[in-house]
Amino acid sequence: MAVNEHWMEVISPYDGSVVGRVPECTEDQVREAIRRASEAAPGMAAMPAYQRGAILNKAAQIIAGQVDDLGRLMARENGKPLKYSRAEALRAVDTFNFAADEARRLHGETIPLDASAAGVGKIGYFVRVPVGVIAAITPFNFPLNLSAHKIAPAIAAGCPVVMKPAPTTPMTVLRLAEILREAGLPDGAFEVVTGGADVGTWLTTDPRIAMISFTGSVPVARQITRTAGLRRVVLELGGNAATIIDEDANLDHAVSRNVIGSFSYSGQTCISVQRIYIHRSRYEEFRQKFLAAAEKLVVGDPLSDQTDIGPLINDGAADRIESWIAEAVGQGATVSLGGTRQGRLFQPTVLENVRPEMQLMCAEAFGPVVSLVPFDDFDDALAQADDSTFGLQAGVYTRDLNKAMRAVQRLNVGGVIINDVPTLRIDHMPYGGNKESGVGREGPRFAIEEMTTLKMVIINLGV
Ligand code: NAD
Repeated sequence: MAVNEHWMEVISPYDGSVVGRVPECTEDQVREAIRRASEAAPGMAAMPAYQRGAILNKAAQIIAGQVDDLGRLMARENGKPLKYSRAEALRAVDTFNFAADEARRLHGETIPLDASAAGVGKIGYFVRVPVGVIAAITPFNFPLNLSAHKIAPAIAAGCPVVMKPAPTTPMTVLRLAEILREAGLPDGAFEVVTGGADVGTWLTTDPRIAMISFTGSVPVARQITRTAGLRRVVLELGGNAATIIDEDANLDHAVSRNVIGSFSYSGQTCISVQRIYIHRSRYEEFRQKFLAAAEKLVVGDPLSDQTDIGPLINDGAADRIESWIAEAVGQGATVSLGGTRQGRLFQPTVLENVRPEMQLMCAEAFGPVVSLVPFDDFDDALAQADDSTFGLQAGVYTRDLNKAMRAVQRLNVGGVIINDVPTLRIDHMPYGGNKESGVGREGPRFAIEEMTTLKMVIINLGV
């Protein structure tokens, strides 16, 4: 990156210390990064599969050797407690290795053209070819693994990437760029441009960009799609995920998993559990066990191995959640646990007596707040869980196969998790949402499908 007079400080959301400084890119620098990526495109498209696979495996190996370091960097940069930030680094190892596997088996198909009289005497097949330069925009909450979910499949597909990380978490992505250079990725194949919304706009509106891969919030996604024109766009957006706990559920499992699902990384994940619907016959038992488990969570320094809940990303996020709790209480909700904060450190918070129209139920909380709701009828619980503008993932605890299959059929979400929380992503599965939770899917195999296009070949024999 060229020397720049404009620098941004990256500040720890926990203690306000300076984690680093990065350039605030100018429009010229963004254009220059896109130029370098465009120049790298033919080389990336021509790179043999074994080399793409080798670079991806090497990147995974380097990340595996730096799990602790990367974990600490993320804990400082975005306040994610060490136990979760190290886990994120380990997941990125998986993501790169899965993408390496996919690079080696990316292939087309033959088409039996003679199934039509018009095709007799012709051989037909298609291949997958890279779309070209990808603009990748990532959020603050998983700076390493969500960036990996864009750059790793792009390398597998043969596409260069210009990535704009969130302004709060650029350091991890710049480290990833170093790792990829060390792994042998050619110059220009991964460019990082740091800065805020302006940098994102310059990047996504440049005509040399073939595809936009965005992970973040709905309002920004709307802005991007307004100017995307005819380019391909993949959007991984927010949610207000629900778990349904039916009368025959394994309650201890449901309690421990929903505590993690609701409060890990302070609820700042797109599949954080925000609404729990519990069969009335088990409500009190679940409630007591859940409150007892949530109360034991340790809130504090993300760099401590003991910490379960670190700070929210900024004051605005803490203010918003505080005001949404106040609004819910004003409308009759009760706070059964937490509800208070010390600066950006928010206590794990549990609400009851909520109504569907409260913000904490119908909007994306993105904080350590969960609401408990009793239900009498399983199908009604399905309808309530599905009554959302979002549709990312849902969790359903039941041992009744018929009910489980009804849930799979009725819930309009990208993933239904039976007997576990919605907060579950294994990195090679198709992942993404319906409705306002997004368009398209990630997970290396599925992201590669989005990042490639089909080229049909017909050979007319006997000419
Ligand atoms: P955000 O939408 O505020 O920002 C995301 C990125 O977009 C940042 O890099 C930001 O600088 C950039 N940006 C802002 N304005 C832009 C513009 N006009 N043009 C281009 N880029 C622009 O999101 P955030 O606060 O960083 O992250 C939280 C959101 O991300 C939540 O809604 C969460 O649910 C979502 N998310 C979704 C997934 C998923 O896979 N579905 C995963 C993680 C987070």
